[in-house]
Amino acid sequence: MDYISTRGSAPALNFEGVTLAGLASDGGLYIPREFPRFTAEEIAAMAGLPYAELAVRVMKPFVGDSLTEQTLRDLCQRAYGRFSHEAVTPLKQFDEHNWLLELFHGPTLAFKDVALQLLGRLFEEFLSRSEDRLTIVGATSGDTGSAAIDAVAGRDRVDIFMLHPKGRVSDVQRRQMTTVLAPNVHNIAIDGSFDDAQAMVKRMFGDTNMTGRFHISAVNSINWARLMAQVVYYFAAALQLGAPARKVAFSVPTGNFGDVFAGYVAAKMGLPIEQLIVATNVNDILHRALSDGDYSAGTVTPTAAPSMDIQVSSNFERLLFDCGGRDGAAMAEQMRGFESSRAMRLTNAQREGAAGLFTSIRADQSDMAQAMQWASEKCGEIIDPHTAIGLHAARASELPRSIPVVTLATAHPAKFPDAVERATGVRPSLPNRVGDLFEREERYSELPGDYDSVAEYVAEHATPSV
Ligand SMILES: *Cc1c(COP(=O)(O)O)cnc(C)c1O
Repeated sequence: MDYISTRGSAPALNFEGVTLAGLASDGGLYIPREFPRFTAEEIAAMAGLPYAELAVRVMKPFVGDSLTEQTLRDLCQRAYGRFSHEAVTPLKQFDEHNWLLELFHGPTLAFKDVALQLLGRLFEEFLSRSEDRLTIVGATSGDTGSAAIDAVAGRDRVDIFMLHPKGRVSDVQRRQMTTVLAPNVHNIAIDGSFDDAQAMVKRMFGDTNMTGRFHISAVNSINWARLMAQVVYYFAAALQLGAPARKVAFSVPTGNFGDVFAGYVAAKMGLPIEQLIVATNVNDILHRALSDGDYSAGTVTPTAAPSMDIQVSSNFERLLFDCGGRDGAAMAEQMRGFESSRAMRLTNAQREGAAGLFTSIRADQSDMAQAMQWASEKCGEIIDPHTAIGLHAARASELPRSIPVVTLATAHPAKFPDAVERATGVRPSLPNRVGDLFEREERYSELPGDYDSVAEYVAEHATPSV
C-alpha cells in the first residue's frame, strides 16, 4: 500500500513512512493511492469478531508490509486492552431508529484514545527499527493533550511536550495531563491563550535550530494512522446492526473532519453506509461548505462543546481531493488561495462528490441542551455536549425510518460536568478507574508566553535524534 499527498508533489510513502511523517513535505495530507475494497462476503465474515481482531482485518490492507499480521495483532490487543469495556466501543439503543456508539471507554474518556493508543505503539515499533527518536510538540485546549500524553507516556524513543494555556483548561482536563508522571512527559502551562500556544508550536516546526537537532513531530489528526484506526468502529457498529445486508447511517459531532472522514473511508471500502451526517455547532464552516459550497473561515465562538470550536477543518482537504478528481496540482492551487484569503468555493465536482454521501446539520446551544434532555428523560442516558450535537442532527435528519442512525458518542459526560448539569440537572461523576484524579500528584512547569523560553525548555529536556 502506497500513500500520496493531496498536493501532488511530496514523495509517495509506505505506511511506516506516513505514520512517522504526519504532514506531507508539500504541505498536503497523505491518502492511500487507492482505497482497498472488501466484498460483501468478506464483510459478512467479520461479524462477531472481538474488537482487536476486527481492527486487524480492517487495517491490514492499509498497513501493507510495514507490519506483519502478528505484530499488528499484538499492537491492537495492547492498545484496546487498555479500554475499560470488553466491547471497546459498545453500541446502545435510544429508540427504534436511533443508536449510540460509545467511543469514550479509553483511558482519557474521549474518542481520541481509540486512535492515539494505537499510534503511540506504532511510533515505538517503527522508531525502534531506525533507532530514531521523536520529540512530539503540541498545544491543547483539552482533549487531544491528555489522549496524546496517555498514548506515549513511558514509551521508548518518544518525548512529549504539551503546552496548555495556564488557567484556561478545566481542572479535569489539566489533571488528566499533569498527573501523568512518566519521565518522557513534559507539561507546560504558558501565560497566554490557546492560540498563543498553538503559534509557538507552529513556529518550532519551522525553527531549523530545533528541527536540526530533534525529530519534531505532531499527533494531531492530520496523521493518516489516526484516521485508519477510526475506520474500525464504523465496521463494528454497522455489523451489529445487520451490515452488509442492511444499510446504516452515522451522525458525527465534527471539528477537524477526522472522525467523519474515517466513515467516508469505511464506505469506500465497501461498508454499506446510507449517509454521513456532519453535525456542527455554531462554528459551522463545514455546514456552509457542504450545504452551499462556501468554505470561509470566520472567528471562533466558544461553546459548551469546545472540541468542535474550530474555523478550519484540516482533514476536509482529503475529501476535496478525493471528490475533486484527485488532482494534486489543482488542490495545491485551491489551498494556496484559501490560505491567503481564508475563503474558497468548492468546485462542482467536489460538491457533487460530497453530496453523494454527506449531509450536514448545525446545532445551537438550545438544540444541544434539548438533545441532552431528551436522552436523559426518554432513555435514561446522560450524554456530553459534543454527543448531544450529534444526536440533535440524527433526530433532525430526514432519513427513512428503516435506516438505523448511529450517533457517535465522542466524550464521556463527566468531562463536561457543568454543561451536562445545566441541561439535565444531573451531575455526572467520573468513572471509578479515574475517580482518584483529584487526589493524584500533579507535575508541570510554568513558562512565560514567549517562544524563546519554550524552545529553550524543550531543547534542554528532549533527547536529540540520531
Ligand atoms: C476531537 C473531538 C471532536 C471532533 O472530532 P474531529 O475528528 O476533529 O472532527 C468531537 N468531539 C470530541 C469530544 C472531541 O474530542
